[in-house]
Amino acid sequence: MERLEKSGLAAKIRSCKRCSARKDARCPVPGDGPENAVIIFIGRNPGKNEDEKNRPFIGRAGRLLNEILEMLELDRDLCAILNIVKCFTAKNRAPSSQEINSCLPWLKKELKFFSEKRIIIPLGNEAFKTIFPKTDLSISKAVGRSFKPKDSKIATIPLFHPAYLLRNASEKTKMFNYTLPRVRNYLKANFAEIFSV
Ligand code: URA
Repeated sequence: MERLEKSGLAAKIRSCKRCSARKDARCPVPGDGPENAVIIFIGRNPGKNEDEKNRPFIGRAGRLLNEILEMLELDRDLCAILNIVKCFTAKNRAPSSQEINSCLPWLKKELKFFSEKRIIIPLGNEAFKTIFPKTDLSISKAVGRSFKPKDSKIATIPLFHPAYLLRNASEKTKMFNYTLPRVRNYLKANFAEIFSV
């Protein structure tokens, strides 16, 4: 099974020098996951640890993402983990809208790589607004809900970004006690095949 991080697309992403975000990064970090991933998580952009190891979500936020995956009873190796911007930004500054736009073609190509995708989980406001650029909904109103356009096979279920949850203990408690169990039940009821062994 081909994996994104070992693909020709990942090699092209690693050689990108398209925009200003590149100046602080050792190298752009492509997403990872097997080409038959059904669930795609999308974060914002790599932090320092991710920049050093050239892998998404492996630092503190990544460890919390692992706990989220455990609550959802999902195997990380079978999911795709992407970022809207592939480069680390110094002091973890938020990528500008120009940087997000210039990285968007890579995100679109990464999404195309996953032929079986059925569920997209944007993590945090930037990823949510990148998937739904026209929405007036704030991330806090959207978290845990499933959005599925009538003519689409893909459901989108936004969640708070793990880095936000690390700074906000009460939201983290709500997420683990209330939102994630509901999302897990929804996934089990509607996408039973991803849980079968
Ligand atoms: N935060 C993100 O949004 N992405 C990563 O890869 C790591 C931290």
